[in-house]
Amino acid sequence: MAKGAKKKTGKDVTSADGGGTIPASEVAEHGALPDPKVNSDDELTGKAAKKADKKRKKAEKARKDGAVKQVPWSQVLRVGSGFSLLGLDTGSTPNFAGDKDAGEELMGELQSRLGDLQERLYAESKGGGGRSVLLIIQGMDTSGKGGIMRHVVGAVDPQGVDITSFKAPSPEEKRHPFLWRIRRALPTPGDIGVFDRSHYEDILIVRVHDLLPRTTWSRRYAQINAFEREVVKGGTTVVKVMLHISSDEQKARLTERLEREDKHWKYRPADVDERAHWAEYMQAYQAALDKTSTDHAPWFVVPADQKWYARLAVTNLLLEHLEAMDPQWPAADFDVEAEKARLALTP
Ligand code: AMP
Ligand code: MG
Repeated sequence: MAKGAKKKTGKDVTSADGGGTIPASEVAEHGALPDPKVNSDDELTGKAAKKADKKRKKAEKARKDGAVKQVPWSQVLRVGSGFSLLGLDTGSTPNFAGDKDAGEELMGELQSRLGDLQERLYAESKGGGGRSVLLIIQGMDTSGKGGIMRHVVGAVDPQGVDITSFKAPSPEEKRHPFLWRIRRALPTPGDIGVFDRSHYEDILIVRVHDLLPRTTWSRRYAQINAFEREVVKGGTTVVKVMLHISSDEQKARLTERLEREDKHWKYRPADVDERAHWAEYMQAYQAALDKTSTDHAPWFVVPADQKWYARLAVTNLLLEHLEAMDPQWPAADFDVEAEKARLALTP
């Protein structure tokens, strides 16, 4: 697709011929849709080409008529009032009717658009722009946070990306308020900052394991909301994603880690102990979603039992936020024509 061709429309976030995004009119049904994929026109000749052309024209017309509105992923996956983690099928693929192959096929195009927008954001900051993005990834052990870092974030220019993994706080970090280490890791203008775990651990693991008195952690929801409001005001678009897996899926993934020698390094015996607290974790996550999904920084919950889907969803979420930001190439701070003339005169 041409660079920026689908910017700012709010619909058609994923192209209708892109292999599986569900049109708005179908979204409530979640039924299997016919594969809307059309082979690249220039590969086709004669009858097939005519047919493909007709199909494309029809799709275009339908789009113009508004009959095939694409639903933004940010709308479908957003946590609104009444949202229930327990009510969400972790194996489902909201907003996508295609299978794994179709999903993976789509990734290439999405990643190149992501790369383009990231470069624009980075360039904009070189021209004095102050905006940035913060992608926060939360999820239970084995939920696929590492895969998001490698496959989604890893696809953009490392120059403009800043990943921070938050572990249990160090003695020094413990001497400071819980947001201290978070503030220090915020993205600078032009960057996409990514948090692999975050300040949300301070109301998740801390709550589940009583690491601090209730009076301390219960104040943190409001503190987090105020903090994020400030971050957003400062020009950072905050995208908060929970990768939601089932307890069964975690068991399967831990089993695989034990069975494969090349996965042993990922396994910690403590992961099994944590499973005993699954229900409490779900409660703690639900409370976090209820109390901190705000207008300025809403939560998105991504069903993550299928890794390919989670990656597709997070890529689309990131893309949509960047598209809405619409970063601009900075104007040259020199006289382009004069420079052309000067360059032409050189040997
Ligand atoms: P991993 O993401 O598998 O490398 O594990 C990091 C560990 O650090 C997890 O067990 C987290 O729960 C833990 N962790 C991260 N942030 C905090 C925090 N603020 N307080 C306590 N433990 C934390
Ligand atoms: Mg772990």
